[in-house]
Amino acid sequence: MSRNIIVVDDDIQTSQLLQTMLEVLGCNSIVFNRAVEFLTHSLNEEDIVLLDLVMPEIDGIEVLRTLAEQKCRSRIILLSGYDDSVLHSAETLALAHDLRVVACLSKPIHMHALQRVLMSGTRLSGEEFQSDVSIVPLFTKEQLESAVLNHQIELHYQPQIDLSDGSLIGVEALARWNHPEFGLLMPAQFIGLAEESDLIIVLTAEIVRLALDQCQVWNNLGFRPRMSVNISADYITSLAVPEQLSEMLSNKAMSGMNLMLEVTESNLMGELLTSLDTLTRLRMRGFGLSIDDFGTGYSSLSQLHRVPFSELKIDQSFVQSMERDGDSYAIVKTCIRLGHELGMEVVAEGVEDEAVLSMLSELQCDIAQGYLFAKPMPAPELYEWSYAGRGEDLVRECCPA
Ligand code: C2E
Ligand code: MG
Ligand code: MG
Repeated sequence: MSRNIIVVDDDIQTSQLLQTMLEVLGCNSIVFNRAVEFLTHSLNEEDIVLLDLVMPEIDGIEVLRTLAEQKCRSRIILLSGYDDSVLHSAETLALAHDLRVVACLSKPIHMHALQRVLMSGTRLSGEEFQSDVSIVPLFTKEQLESAVLNHQIELHYQPQIDLSDGSLIGVEALARWNHPEFGLLMPAQFIGLAEESDLIIVLTAEIVRLALDQCQVWNNLGFRPRMSVNISADYITSLAVPEQLSEMLSNKAMSGMNLMLEVTESNLMGELLTSLDTLTRLRMRGFGLSIDDFGTGYSSLSQLHRVPFSELKIDQSFVQSMERDGDSYAIVKTCIRLGHELGMEVVAEGVEDEAVLSMLSELQCDIAQGYLFAKPMPAPELYEWSYAGRGEDLVRECCPA
């Protein structure tokens, strides 16, 4: 059975661009600019459908409904020019219909993102791209590996503010690649690449090491914020991790209490069973465990209850829109209650304005993080920032006691 990638998009320019990208990637593609025509095409299980959500005549949601009636088994990647919440609700709907939605892509679509979802979401192996064109991926695994070895990976730190008094309760370490040619690269440009191979384990170990070194420098100055580090599921599932981390901490005379490990909801649930063992052992050793980007994955409540998380981080998409969108407000409110009922501290990330900060405080959210307080910054700036009192000022203004 040969595999086709089927593009369904009314926009001629987008579909041509996608077709060119797929050609570069060495994939066979078929384009439909009208959904009615696509629905008469017979799909096989190996096919992958790239489906635009917003089309005239029949929109993507109706197409999904029809595909569900046809018991379609092809994998589906949703495309949309709208914001992520539209994509997300369409994805939820499709999964409720038992369709195999493997990824969502926001427009404009970039080559690297397309390749990444085709590889990870549909398990297309590298060899299935018969491409010898060197522009993809943007970086190779070898380049990233040597960047790690040459200490080009750096951490920036973003403050997390205690909403009871505006004090700095912790910082989140966010990876940056200080590339000699391209300057400072953001995680979106390299974490995905690392996650496609074992390199993520080496990279995560390096990031943890950098974060702990920084904790030690700060501790010596009498500055002891809790350190949150993003951990990929592949790292967590390696069974030796609790011992390794404990050893790294005891070498620095620190305890697990100083370290919060953030795992994203979607990343984790695929690996839940294997990771449950490690996660439980990490909690037993006193490490904090945080469920990141909560609300964007599909964890059921029972799964959430089984994993011993100590912190819940509400995804920034809900936080950012909670002031103007009643549904987002309801989700944030429910997440805060849920987190508290399950004995977790709740962090809202992506706090960008004062009105949202007031609402979060009213809803008794514990911790806030976002550009309103500060963007992620290098360690020396963060240390200076901690003395400027911005967190206290904002909380005094926006959060009536
Ligand atoms: P995350 O862990 O959810 O991190 C929060 C992201 O939101 C950061 O982007 C941060 O700069 C951004 N952010 C914080 N406040 C605001 C705000 O008020 N408004 C807006 N628009 N954005 C805000 P960043 O640094 O680009 O990181 C993106 C993602 O990359 C992270 O999401 C995390 O999933 C991943 N990542 C970052 N560092 C690492 C790492 O060391 N290891 C792993 N495995 N993943 C990492
Ligand atoms: Mg995080
Ligand atoms: Mg997050």
